[in-house]
Amino acid sequence: AKSDKRQPIQAFELHMDEALSFRRTMRKDLAVAIAEDQLHLLLQPVVGARTGELASAEALLRWTHPVLGAVSPAKLIPLAEESGQIIAIDDWVLEQALVYAAALGDVPIAVNISPVQFRHPGFARKIVDRLSAHGLPPHLLKLEITEGVLVTHTRAASRAVNELREAGIRIALDDFGTGFSSLSYLKDFQFDSLKIDRSFVTDLENGRQSAELLRAIIDLGHSLNMTVIAEGVETARQASLIQLLGCDFIQGYFTGRPMPFEALEAMKAGP
Ligand code: C2E
Ligand code: CA
Ligand code: CA
Ligand code: CA
Repeated sequence: AKSDKRQPIQAFELHMDEALSFRRTMRKDLAVAIAEDQLHLLLQPVVGARTGELASAEALLRWTHPVLGAVSPAKLIPLAEESGQIIAIDDWVLEQALVYAAALGDVPIAVNISPVQFRHPGFARKIVDRLSAHGLPPHLLKLEITEGVLVTHTRAASRAVNELREAGIRIALDDFGTGFSSLSYLKDFQFDSLKIDRSFVTDLENGRQSAELLRAIIDLGHSLNMTVIAEGVETARQASLIQLLGCDFIQGYFTGRPMPFEALEAMKAGP
């Protein structure tokens, strides 16, 4: 019985070792990736729920690893946060997004901001500086933050949110409804928009409760003067239900997958 208990521990330790050396390798590769142009951004359209017109686009990071191929940002971002490389990556993302925003002219680009970056003291200043270096009006950049940003360092986070909004940069609360305290953040912070997490949209066709819940979130957002975006809309049926529930914007595979800049430009030009 004793050795039975030990076995999972050894397996666990082995696993830990592998994970550790994997992370070490990835960290080195990531440093090279930044230097050698292996990163790129895709843009996913956000469209008006009623009009279907392109309203903005979200920048999503892609890494093509020379050996492993495409590495998902869901893997890459946590690794980079752990190593501190996230600062360099987020800077790169911001620059590239601003280049795209300048080229598009009037389609705002939304950028995901990691908590590490957001609570950096000079963050708001840096954003404002980069915008003016590109000669861009502030409304062409949107920042998406998750609860993770706000959980710790609440004072610093709230200062940054206020400073950015005063400068005219709009801020969205991302993945709304998935965290533990989404509601309390609406009390402490003022956001410009809410992005309802994909899980609510996925559940939509599983009965009445989900639709009522979604409606309540949309109404809540509106009553706090926010625009509401539904994420992960994959079907025509989901899109029309969401529109009926009063949601302002939709984003998802139904209206467009994350795409290269040129494809978004073509979408902007119209059919
Ligand atoms: P997110 O900010 O919630 O981004 C939305 C994710 O949902 C994206 O995954 C997008 O490709 C995916 N998605 C969009 N529409 C649909 C749909 O209809 N169905 C399904 N199943 N998925 C859909 P992606 O690109 O893999 O990014 C994952 C996460 O990685 C993002 O979640 C964001 O948290 C993070 N991330 C991505 N790019 C960046 C970046 O440049 N900086 C930082 N800090 N984080 C990033
Ligand atoms: Ca996002
Ligand atoms: Ca999201
Ligand atoms: Ca997410």
